[in-house]
Amino acid sequence: MTSLPEPQPGQKKLGLVIDLDICVGCHACAVNCKEWNTGGAAGPLSDLDPYGAAPDGVWFNRIHAFETGEGAEGRTVYFPKSCLHCEEPACVTVCPTGASFKRAEDGIVLVDEELCIGCKLCAWACPYGAREFDEQVGVMRKCTLCVDRIYNEALDAVERVPACVSTCPVSARHFGDLGDPDSAVSRLVAERGGKALLPELGYRPVNRYLPPRPRAPAAASACSSEAPAETGVGSRLLRWVDQLLSR
Ligand code: SF4
Ligand code: SF4
Repeated sequence: MTSLPEPQPGQKKLGLVIDLDICVGCHACAVNCKEWNTGGAAGPLSDLDPYGAAPDGVWFNRIHAFETGEGAEGRTVYFPKSCLHCEEPACVTVCPTGASFKRAEDGIVLVDEELCIGCKLCAWACPYGAREFDEQVGVMRKCTLCVDRIYNEALDAVERVPACVSTCPVSARHFGDLGDPDSAVSRLVAERGGKALLPELGYRPVNRYLPPRPRAPAAASACSSEAPAETGVGSRLLRWVDQLLSR
């Protein structure tokens, strides 16, 4: 079994904040994630039967689509999901070889492929389905928060963000230190009521989701510049996603 680093005061907690209100489900983040990681430190990421009847493979980021509401209130909400870089990651503590580990300096959860024996215990332990077993190589893989980009001084400063963040055409993805209450991502979470996924499980995910905002009725929104009043639509959706992931 593998231990976690001792939590420190002011601990850096790098993570993603994803805005479910504006994600359009284009999959650009997932594709650029695959592209970057296939060519980078984590690569290659396998593809199985890519042009056949049952294509599969390793994707660190997957976009789910949910229908919510009825009639005029109905809408499709896109829900990108990758590793949440939990503060209490059972995927790490269950690992028998130390291959899965959480970095003390920034909280990123990684897999050392040299130590991974492919036992899949971490995949069983992760309640979010964020682990990706590479059948071709026989090791476990997962989102690295693009650790090979974010500290890479060969890149322009603006490029030192995860590939998914750099490519999102609607800026639905944000990256930063969620351990710093004054960071841009922490302020965004506070302003928009950002939510953790399945917090009741106790894994303390670092990533946050910004709930979808209620839509104004079409006729009213066409002739009014007033912002729609907040309702519990976002919270209801996240509860529904929680229930789905709990099955
Ligand atoms: Fe581990 Fe899953 Fe949490 Fe990622 S989301 S840190 S894989 S338990
Ligand atoms: Fe959503 Fe942005 Fe990913 Fe497209 S790139 S699926 S808009 S998060």
